[in-house]
Amino acid sequence: MNRRDFLKILGASAAGTSTLTAPLARAERAPRVVIIGGGVGGATTAKYLKLYAPQTHVTIIEPKREYQRPYGSSEVITGQIELEDIVISYDDLQTRHGVEFVHEAVESIDYDARQVQTNGGTRLDYDRLVVSPGVSFDFDAIEGLTAELAETKLPHAWDAGDQLLVLKEQLESLPENPTVVIGPPPNPYRCPPGPYERAGLIAQWLLDRGDTEARVVILDPKNGFTTDYTMLHAWNDLYDFNLPEPARSKYSDEEWAQLTVHEKTGPIEWVMGELGGRILSVDAEAMTVEAEAGTFKADMINIIPPLKAGQIAIDQGLADDSGWCPVDQRTFESTRHANVHVIGDSCIAGAMPKSGYAANSQAKVLAIQLKALLAGNEPVEPVFQNTCYALAGNTDVGMFVADVFRMDGDTIARVEEQRYLPFDATETEYRLAALYQHNWMKAFTEDCFS
Ligand SMILES: Cc1cc2nc3c(=O)[nH]c(=O)nc-3n(C[C@H](O)[C@H](O)[C@H](O)COP(=O)(O)OP(=O)(O)OC[C@H]3O[C@@H](n4cnc5c(N)ncnc54)[C@H](O)[C@@H]3O)c2cc1C
Repeated sequence: MNRRDFLKILGASAAGTSTLTAPLARAERAPRVVIIGGGVGGATTAKYLKLYAPQTHVTIIEPKREYQRPYGSSEVITGQIELEDIVISYDDLQTRHGVEFVHEAVESIDYDARQVQTNGGTRLDYDRLVVSPGVSFDFDAIEGLTAELAETKLPHAWDAGDQLLVLKEQLESLPENPTVVIGPPPNPYRCPPGPYERAGLIAQWLLDRGDTEARVVILDPKNGFTTDYTMLHAWNDLYDFNLPEPARSKYSDEEWAQLTVHEKTGPIEWVMGELGGRILSVDAEAMTVEAEAGTFKADMINIIPPLKAGQIAIDQGLADDSGWCPVDQRTFESTRHANVHVIGDSCIAGAMPKSGYAANSQAKVLAIQLKALLAGNEPVEPVFQNTCYALAGNTDVGMFVADVFRMDGDTIARVEEQRYLPFDATETEYRLAALYQHNWMKAFTEDCFS
C-alpha cells in the first residue's frame, strides 16, 4: 500500500466508513447519513440535520472542492457579476456545523449492504442515504447537439461552470446587430423563468451596446412558462415586444387591451410551441437551427437540452422512465429503494418546481423527517414553499412567482393564491422585486451553506 492509498483509507475512515474499523451494531453507534451532492439540496440537508440532530454523523460526498451556484448565474454571461462571485466555500459547513466531506464522486450504491462507493475507492456505510445530484442533459434529443459541442461552440451553461465564460466570450465577440437563438427546454427543467430571464439580459446587453437591430429569438417547445404573465408584459413595455396572439389566453380582455401593439418591434421574439418553436436540429458549422417553424441562421446559439435527473441517480436505478426519481412525497424516500431519499432537481415532487428555493425547502423538511425516522418515530405532515425571482432583462425590473405547497393525499399540491405581481404593478414594485432578488440570493446562499 502506498502513502496515497493509506491516506485515502485514513480519510475515509474519519468520514465514517467501516473500511478499517469493525462495524458496530447499528443501534450502538451514532446514526450515519451520507449525502450524495454538495449542492443546494445536499448542503441544506446536512446543515439542518446537524442543527436538529447534532449526534448524527453527516458526510457529504461531492467531487468539487467549492460549489458554483447555478442560481443567478446568467449574469456572469452579461457581466453584472464575475465567475468568482458564484463560487461558494464549504468551510462553514465543516467548521461551524461539523459536516464531513469526501471530495470524490459516487460511482455505485449497494442498497442491500447500505454502502456507497466512490471513484476514489472510498466506501461509506449509511443508515439513510440522501441523493441530491442535480440534473443531467439529454443531448440525444436534439440532432446535432453533443456534450462535446456544449463545452465549445454550443454551451448550454445551465449548470454553472466554464460554459458560462464561453457564452460570455461569444456574446462579447458578436458582430453588430447579431441574431441570438435561445432554446429553452421542455418541462420539467430547473429554474422555470431562467431561460427567459437570460434572453432578456442578452437583449438588454445588446441594446446597451447600441445594437438597435439585434434579434434575440426564443425557440420554445412550450406555449407558456412560469412568470410569463409578468415577463411578457414587462417586455412589451421595455423592449417593444409584441405578444403573439395565442398568448392572449394568459390575460383578461381588459388587460390584453392595455398591452401596446408596437409598429416597430424590439429585439425579443418568442416563437411559442404552437407557432413552431420546437427545435428539431442544430448545425454548429453552419450556425443554423432547424425548428418546426423553419430554419434560423444565428450568430450565437444557446440551446438548453431536455433535462433529466443527475446521472448517478439514473445509473443506480433511482429514476423511472420519465428520467426523474419517484419518491414518497412526504419523506422523499425513494419508491424504488428503501432508506434512500432523493431531493432537489432530481426528484418528482408533485407541483413543486425544480428550483434552488424548492430544493432548500425540501431539504429542511427532509432534515426533520430524517431525525424522526432515525429515532424510530413517525414523519410529520410537511408544508413547503418556493419563490422564483427573475429579471426582465433590465436589472432594475424584477418579478417573482411565490407559492406555498401542502400535501393533497400523497402528492405535493400548490395552494391556489395570487403568485405573481399584479398586472397593474407600479414601477416601484418592479424595482423592489429586482431588489428582493438581489438580497434573496445572498440570504439564501447563507441559509444553505453557512
Ligand atoms: C441560470 C440559472 C438560474 C437559476 N436561478 C434560480 C433562482 O433564481 N432561484 C432558484 O431557486 N433556483 C434557481 N436556479 C435553479 C437552482 O440552481 C437548482 O434548482 C438547484 O441548484 C438544485 O439543487 P440540487 O441540490 O438539486 O442540485 P445542484 O445544486 O446542482 O447540486 C448537485 C451537486 O451534486 C454533485 N454531484 C453530481 N453527481 C455526483 C456524484 N456522482 N457524486 C457526488 N456528487 C455528485 C454535483 O457536483 C453538484 O455539486 C437556477 C438555475 C440556473 C441554471
